[in-house]
Parts: sequence; C-alpha cells; structure tokens
Amino acid sequence: MNTQDWIELDGAAGEGGGQVLRTALTLAMITGKPFRIEHIRAKRNKPGLLRQHLTAVQAAATISGATVTGALAGSQSLSFVPGAIRGGDYQFAIGTAGSCTLVLQTVLPALWFADAPSTVTVSGGTHNKAAPPADFLIRSWAPLVARMGVQQTLALQRHGFYPAGGGEVHASVQPITALTPLTLLERGALQQLKAEAIVAGVSYSIAKRELDQLAKRLTDSAVPLQSEVRELSAIEGPGNALLCDVVHEQVTEVFTGFGERGVSSEAVANHVGGHVRGYLASGAAVGEYLADQLLLPLALAGGGAFTAATASSHLLTNIGVIERFLALKIQVTQSDNGVVQIALGKQGIVIK
Ligand code: AMP
Repeated sequence: MNTQDWIELDGAAGEGGGQVLRTALTLAMITGKPFRIEHIRAKRNKPGLLRQHLTAVQAAATISGATVTGALAGSQSLSFVPGAIRGGDYQFAIGTAGSCTLVLQTVLPALWFADAPSTVTVSGGTHNKAAPPADFLIRSWAPLVARMGVQQTLALQRHGFYPAGGGEVHASVQPITALTPLTLLERGALQQLKAEAIVAGVSYSIAKRELDQLAKRLTDSAVPLQSEVRELSAIEGPGNALLCDVVHEQVTEVFTGFGERGVSSEAVANHVGGHVRGYLASGAAVGEYLADQLLLPLALAGGGAFTAATASSHLLTNIGVIERFLALKIQVTQSDNGVVQIALGKQGIVIK
C-alpha cells in the first residue's frame, strides 16, 4: 500500500479520548480507507487501549476482515487496514465493565451498509459513567437514526454496572444502501418527563430518595414528572442509576446520574436535575452528548443539520476526524441565544 493512502491520526488531538479511535474505525470500515493512529487516548488517566477500545478494534477487524497491528492492551499506536464489511451473527465480550454501547456504536454504522443482515451481542457494562447508557442508545440515539432510514432494533438484555460488568446489549440490523439526511433544528413541544431510578442489590430507599429530590428540582416544569423505581435482581448489581427522559415531539433526551459510595442520593438527583434544567432552558434540539453522537450518522448521510446546547470538545474533535475520512464540510455556528447550529454539507461522499 502506498504510504500516501494512509490517514494519519493523532489520538492526542482535541478531546484526546477513545472517540477519535472509534470514529476512525467506523469510517475506515465504511470508506475502505486504512488509518494509523498514534498517542491513543493520550489525554486520559490511563492512556492507550483499555478493554473497551480493544474490543471495539477487534470487533471492527472481525466485521471488516481488517489487518491490524498494535491491537494490544495499553497500546498507544495502531494501524487498521479494512477489508469488506460482512453481515453475520457476532458476539463480542469486553470482559470488564467497559461500555457495550460504545463498542456497538463503533460497529453498527458499518453493519448498516453490510452485504447481509446481522445480529450483534456485546457483553460488559451497560450503564457506565462517561459513556451512553443502553437506555440512551435505545430511546435517544436509535429513534433519530431510524428517521434517517436505519433498520435496526436494540435490546438491553441484562444490566451491567461498574465494576462488575456482566451486562449485555443485543442489536439486529437489516442493511440499507443509503441514509437520508436529518434536519433537527427544533425539538418541538415538551410531551413528557419520565424518571427511572434503577437499583440492583442496592436499597429501594436510595431510589426513592433520588426520585423525590429530582421531583423537587423539576417542580416548575411545564409537564409533571412521572417517576418509577426499577428494582433489578441483585445478580445484576451492585449498581444504581438515575435516568430522566425528556420527551419532546422531535427528540427524546436521556440524562443520567450514578449512585456511588460517598455521594448522596440527593446529589445524584441534583446532578441529573441540573442537566435536565440546562437542556430545557437552552432551547436547542439536542444536548451535549447526543450532539457528538449524531454527527457520524449525519456525516454518513452526506448532509443535515441540528441545533445543540453546546459545542463540546467531543463534538469538535469528532468533526476533525470525520473531515479526514469524508469529503464533507461541517460548519459550527454560535447563535446569539447561545444555541449552536451544526450543518453538514455534501461534497461527494464515497461509501465503499
Ligand atoms: P470518549 O470520552 O472519547 O470515550 O467518548 C465518550 C462518549 O460517551 C461520547 O460520545 C459522549 O457523548 C458519550 N457520553 C458520555 N457521557 C454520556 C451520558 N451521560 N449520556 C450519553 N452519552 C454520554
């Protein structure tokens, strides 16, 4: 292979986390372009490939018959030469509480364009700090990509919390040939606010206190908060997560907090309530996390636009990686009311 054919990436650029690698894996599979990356996750406490990133690399390599070097625990450099994407039945085990959803988000877009239907089961963590919880993927991200023409179903089979893991998420995908661009500038009217406090091997009263406090934080909302305690079997735990779905006509956002030793239930609820209030006040269609996760599907559609509450460093870093692989311009415009508009323009995207 010609050296100029490689896309060279610096994992320390911008956010300097795992997303640089995951986005590169997805786009390499879909465009057929090989890449090399140095300084993987250089800005994280434990740089290099952790189990979750290694599983994402192995999963991408399996699905696309790739030739890979550097796929070792702790490795900070990697090269990836993809082959053809093959649909099929896949199972990937992270082996720790590393995030199943981040592994899924790496491989699912490739399987959207595979030669045959697929099923994918990933085991590991399903409710992790600093990653989308399975509920977020299912209720927030998946409905938007479905509007773009993606045919997939996602199911949370078993919860997995840090540090035990042991959760499982299942996906099935029917391939498509192209995505329809999505324009999501308005969120529409507020329809529902729904909170769920999940406890696994953790006292019911923790969940109750979280829900009571969240209700206090959201008393002045335009719709009443519906709350529910979800008690799981202790085998799925120990774990505690507080989720709040903010359902508007055009988009559902899911905000999450995690209970942990030394953090009161009220503090967990205040954290979630603060995010919900910030999003409601912003008037943007999508929140910080959904923004950086919506970018790749829109880029694969070759266009579209959305408004976001903020231009996070994840968002800006992801734009940089996407622009290396696709002939696409992504514009970020800050408006007077603080809302950010992200617009993607097609300049001859090539899907392998
Ligand atoms: P990285 O830090 O590079 O591994 O990327 C983390 C990814 O997880 C980003 O796509 C974030 O948007 C996403 N993420 C982090 N926290 C949450 C959350 N609470 N809800 C949804 N997505 C999240």
